[in-house]
Amino acid sequence: MTIAVKGAFYLPGDEGYEQARVGRIFNARKPERYPAAILQVVDETDVVAGVRLAAERGWTISVRSGGHSWAAWSVHDDALLLDLGALRSLDYDDATGIVAAGPATMGSLELAPFLTERGRSFPGGHCASVGIGGYLLQGGQGWNGRLKGWACESVVAVDVVTADGDLIRADAQQNTDLYWAARGAGPGFPGVVVRFHLQTYPQPPVMWQDTWTFHLDDAERVVHWLHEVLPSLDRRVEPVLAATRLPDVPLYPGVEHPGGTVLLLHTTCMGQSETEVRALLQGLGECPVAGRELGRVTGPTTLAQESDAQIAQNPDGYRYAVDCAWSDASADVLAPLLLDIWRGLDTEHSFSIWYGWAPVRALPDMAFSVEGNVYVATYLIYQDAAEDERYRARVHEQTAAIARNGGVGVYLGDTDFTRRPDRFLTDENFQRLTEIRAVRDPHRRIASYLVSSPDRLNHHG
Ligand SMILES: Cc1cc2nc3c(=O)[nH]c(=O)nc-3n(C[C@H](O)[C@H](O)[C@H](O)COP(=O)(O)OP(=O)(O)OC[C@H]3O[C@@H](n4cnc5c(N)ncnc54)[C@H](O)[C@@H]3O)c2cc1C
Repeated sequence: MTIAVKGAFYLPGDEGYEQARVGRIFNARKPERYPAAILQVVDETDVVAGVRLAAERGWTISVRSGGHSWAAWSVHDDALLLDLGALRSLDYDDATGIVAAGPATMGSLELAPFLTERGRSFPGGHCASVGIGGYLLQGGQGWNGRLKGWACESVVAVDVVTADGDLIRADAQQNTDLYWAARGAGPGFPGVVVRFHLQTYPQPPVMWQDTWTFHLDDAERVVHWLHEVLPSLDRRVEPVLAATRLPDVPLYPGVEHPGGTVLLLHTTCMGQSETEVRALLQGLGECPVAGRELGRVTGPTTLAQESDAQIAQNPDGYRYAVDCAWSDASADVLAPLLLDIWRGLDTEHSFSIWYGWAPVRALPDMAFSVEGNVYVATYLIYQDAAEDERYRARVHEQTAAIARNGGVGVYLGDTDFTRRPDRFLTDENFQRLTEIRAVRDPHRRIASYLVSSPDRLNHHG
């Protein structure tokens, strides 16, 4: 007997298979991996049916929510790909401030406006169309992250279809092992999340931005400055230094863009009033190269405006080679390594960020467990397939240099373990996750991390 599914179902060779395989993958560099079958589920009972069908056929199961993982983690050879794209419901409970959200809900395009209408907020991702499924399972680095922490810290429950095909809830009282794993395991989560229950927060009335444009020549002094102020900077202030080649950057009247790469120090701050955010931004102190900047704008902003800027920087339809590292290195060590990356950027959209995260806090008891003082991520963005190898080799080699010199690991969100695995969980949490997986998915039905050599998984150095 074959288990019936309701959604569109594709086998290799079927019309529509190729579109279903990679049509929703954000990165235009599509993987050469071929699922045994693809099911575009229509609801959670279809997920249950899909999981049982996979067991019947002896297929592993891979999962796609938003399709935004850079390395296309949802596409595995010989697996049943469960595409959850239709699961995008949003239900808000006024009494608790908890929103129940489908895993394919887009963080900035759907969740954020839904909450803004209700005067609420959530530490959603910076980029508009990222699905909350992959984002939350791996941690979730979003707006106000220095203050609110990882977005997964605001997950209060998950509804999960287990590897055996049962629909259960996991939270702080029941199925606590899965609740623990759902906050940081990423693709190693041993189940399929069909709904997230998220604690929302009152929306701060003011969101402010302060953006400086600097010459790349001033990079070392700017990096030293930020390393000095970061440890005592109020958590509501979020400084990101980005090397970018986009021409549309703040410039004073009469100042010409020098061409090539410039540095943008984009600091956002959420607070109760303009007076408050202005005072908080004073925590950045005196800019050591003040007077040499090419431009500066400061003033109110909104999540929607910030999201538009992210879309401009991360365009659809391009090929991406991406890597990241957490660094506890001093500015003396880190700045030259950053400059090596920043000077090498050579396409219009490629960019690389220094994201101030310190001081690190004690994290709650959850799978997510590796972070450092500074987050460095590089996005090489191009269009020609013939450039794949060159850009991939470059981004992973340059990031490996940061990892070797004061690096403490990676954030899953900007990794590609088929080229450069690194540590994303503490050894203790990795061991605990391995044990949970062995109990919850003893037959290894859920496809796990895509990694070049399994013995390198979660291995630093
Ligand atoms: C343009 C862009 C901007 C980004 N900006 C940010 C950012 O600001 N902050 C940040 O933290 N990250 C960011 N990311 C990284 C992004 O959060 C991750 O790539 C994330 O995995 C994407 O989630 P997804 O559901 O869209 O991806 P998918 O590729 O659909 O999912 C990735 C993997 O997660 C697992 N998974 C997903 N959903 C489920 C589920 N429901 N049940 C079980 N397993 C599941 C599966 O293994 C799946 O293959 C960005 C990525 C892009 C492309």
